[in-house]
Amino acid sequence: MSNTFSLAQGREYLAIPGPSVMPDAVLQAMQRPAPNIYEGPLVDMVAGLIPDLKRVARTAHNAAIYICNGHGAWEAALSNTVAPGETVLVPATGRFGMGWADMAQGLGIETQILDFGRSVPWDLDRIAEALRADTGHKIKAVLAVHVDTSSSVRNDVPGVRRVLDDLGHPALLMVDCIASMGCDRFEMDAWGADVALTGSQKGMMVPPGLAFVFFNDRAAAVRAKMPRVSRYWDWLPRAEPEAFFQYFGGTAPTHHLYALRVALDMIHAEGMEHVWGRHARLAQAVWAACEAWGQGGPLRLNVADPAQRSHAVTALRIGAPHGTELRRWVQDNIGLTLGIGLGMSEPDDPNGDGFFRLGHMGHVNGQMILGLLGGMEAGMCALDIPHGSGAIEAAAKVIAGHCRD
Ligand SMILES: *Cc1c(COP(=O)(O)O)cnc(C)c1O
Repeated sequence: MSNTFSLAQGREYLAIPGPSVMPDAVLQAMQRPAPNIYEGPLVDMVAGLIPDLKRVARTAHNAAIYICNGHGAWEAALSNTVAPGETVLVPATGRFGMGWADMAQGLGIETQILDFGRSVPWDLDRIAEALRADTGHKIKAVLAVHVDTSSSVRNDVPGVRRVLDDLGHPALLMVDCIASMGCDRFEMDAWGADVALTGSQKGMMVPPGLAFVFFNDRAAAVRAKMPRVSRYWDWLPRAEPEAFFQYFGGTAPTHHLYALRVALDMIHAEGMEHVWGRHARLAQAVWAACEAWGQGGPLRLNVADPAQRSHAVTALRIGAPHGTELRRWVQDNIGLTLGIGLGMSEPDDPNGDGFFRLGHMGHVNGQMILGLLGGMEAGMCALDIPHGSGAIEAAAKVIAGHCRD
């Protein structure tokens, strides 16, 4: 069994799928006295944040900032576009699609859920079938989670746009990019998303507490026809404020804004294409290791097809109780925190202890991923969990880009 001599002292690595690792520069930017919110540097800074935010979403349209988490962004998007009694279509590939549907139900919205299970993406044919059957255009929006953080399935957003266009269906395409923005390629305008939303604490590398909702002119036109919109969630004054406080519906989230400024500077200094490429390469290293371990033991990637996997989070199964045991071991012994399994089993299912997730989103580099994988290997050794050999070597080869054998 495991050696109890802990090596956890040192800088810890929180490898959960949000909140993600926060850059020191982002945290340092928050370490300052309260600024004046009526005039001066903070007020001057915010106007410049908006275009840089839109560049992350790849949109030329509108952006609204909210002081909330991702659940708030869900409610914000719905509050501006779908009235109580109207219907939304929700293709779900894990816990988060179901969560957005639940949020809609709480607002009195009818939900038509297509459940695709927990390990494969949407089937576009089934989405098309549901939209085709909606001859009266009762469906006002498709609530599309790009990357489901519980299952680590990545879905085909442009595919849904094509389906809507082919059928001439007017429903808005609203995309949850909370686990993908700043990690996986997402291009709001080119992909034809009408609404896209994200939170601050994942690929954006800022502490939880801000959310961003991007919307195009089609979505703005739907908003304009709503019988009423909650004053607080209304995106109009936030996107086109006449006074500074209207950006935030009240007092500005002062310190988060300084953090966001630095995070956006970091993202754009690296470049969006490079940010996406880095996440892709690091994810491939994670998969290479997991596949090697799986050759000689119970570890399995939840999503079989690499083309359908998130580049920011990896859901794994290793059989109960190994998942929970491994998380505890790396936490206690080497200062590494892995993500719990989420939504992969019912709460009272003893198999729940067999699931866990790796977060590799945001401020993450090659040595961190090799540390993460080396730590998992140590944990499996210590706990006598069978695993194939050559995993770290396989990951190192991916990180190296090439390697002469
Ligand atoms: C994290 C996450 C959410 C929820 O965000 P909170 O900030 O926890 O409210 C919703 N959707 C996806 C895809 C997520 O990854």
